[in-house]
Amino acid sequence: MRVDFRFCPACGTGLAAREVESRLLPACPDCDFVAWPDPKVAVAVVVEDDAGRVLTIRRGAAPGQGRWALPGGYLDADETPAQGARRECLEETHCEVEIIGLACIHHVLTEGGGLLVIAYGGHAVGGSIRPTEEAPELGWFRADAMPELGFSSHRRALAAWRSGVPEVL
Ligand SMILES: [Zn+2]
Repeated sequence: MRVDFRFCPACGTGLAAREVESRLLPACPDCDFVAWPDPKVAVAVVVEDDAGRVLTIRRGAAPGQGRWALPGGYLDADETPAQGARRECLEETHCEVEIIGLACIHHVLTEGGGLLVIAYGGHAVGGSIRPTEEAPELGWFRADAMPELGFSSHRRALAAWRSGVPEVL
């Protein structure tokens, strides 16, 4: 969900429209703060087991609550995208994944603004999957028997990873 700033988070002054680099953006009249419409960054990972099955979860939380998805989530500021993908997978499924390569970089415009999804392919190397609050249902699925993924970026990631050619925008 996008938060539209109305007051400056640095000094509390009400924001006013200012032309910055030929765009009209909410900006603070009293300090340098400008509410840039930066994209959020999310990560996801196509995790395969030794049999080539793909780890798929039903999301227990927004965004996309109730939809099937790849393990993934928003990137934290202090981690690399690959670290974020491993962390999200472990948190959501208890599966330890080794990242093998890039599946796709996908840009999506959502109601909440721009979203950049960095998706990897990886191999399960440890842990034992079990349901969590973030993934109350999950399992290993053969590619031809997987539930429909509820995010276009995840569908693209799966297709790109299986084709062997990363899709980079
Ligand atoms: Zn300010």
